[in-house]
Amino acid sequence: MAATRTAIIAGNWKMNYGPRQAADFVKQILPALAHVIRTHPHIVSILCPPDISLQVVRDVLDAQPTRGIELGAQNLYFEEKGAYTGEISAEMVKELCSAVILGHSERRTYFAETDELVNKKLLAALKHHLLPIVCVGETLQQYESGQTSQIIEQQVRHSLANLQPEQAGQIVIAYEPLWAIGSGKAATVDDAVKVIRQIRQIYSSQYGSSAAQAIRILYGGSVTADNIAAFTAQEDIDGALVGGASLKAEFVDLVRNSS
Ligand code: PGA
Repeated sequence: MAATRTAIIAGNWKMNYGPRQAADFVKQILPALAHVIRTHPHIVSILCPPDISLQVVRDVLDAQPTRGIELGAQNLYFEEKGAYTGEISAEMVKELCSAVILGHSERRTYFAETDELVNKKLLAALKHHLLPIVCVGETLQQYESGQTSQIIEQQVRHSLANLQPEQAGQIVIAYEPLWAIGSGKAATVDDAVKVIRQIRQIYSSQYGSSAAQAIRILYGGSVTADNIAAFTAQEDIDGALVGGASLKAEFVDLVRNSS
């Protein structure tokens, strides 16, 4: 982690924990998580439950407000409102949340989200002052055939296009190689650092070096309480986007160990 940027440990619950389980889980971890966050003021933790559980988690967090524990959605739709069955807008997300994950590889793979769609969602999120966490990453086949850098460049340039200068420093990017997600096989620290440096360079060529120095770039993919410290020990890695390990009490250890 760099001294100049606040670290983020975000928990992506994916399609796990409906309202009842979400409330139970967050009540279970909150006292210890709040303690860790209070004693590590340079870390922010963002919990991202499914939409239907956002309100109950909001209520639990509001009952014991802690600076540095925030709520995020896993997706949104770029239109403001209207006949888009099943979707929620940035403005609706903003009523409960301060952040949103965009362009997760599962959305790109199972729901055919393109860089262009992710970009529209990003602009909607920024318009409503949500902190966007935009995910990029290559498949195993792309990794094995040496295409990582080309794929990342394309995703960064297109997903993160069209930002106003004042918006460019206010985003988060998560580098998540698809082969590392849920596989128990995290990227090596060297590989993660290499790609994250490349992302910062591309971003710098798009928006200038001060924006590139301001944004947070996270690593994601099989991050655990045991391996987090190796990633966050790197100056270039500003935290993690965590799936499986965010669904267990281990998440609190993971946040603690990231420091
Ligand atoms: P994982 O998922 O930690 O379970 O690998 C990460 C993610 O998909 O964001």
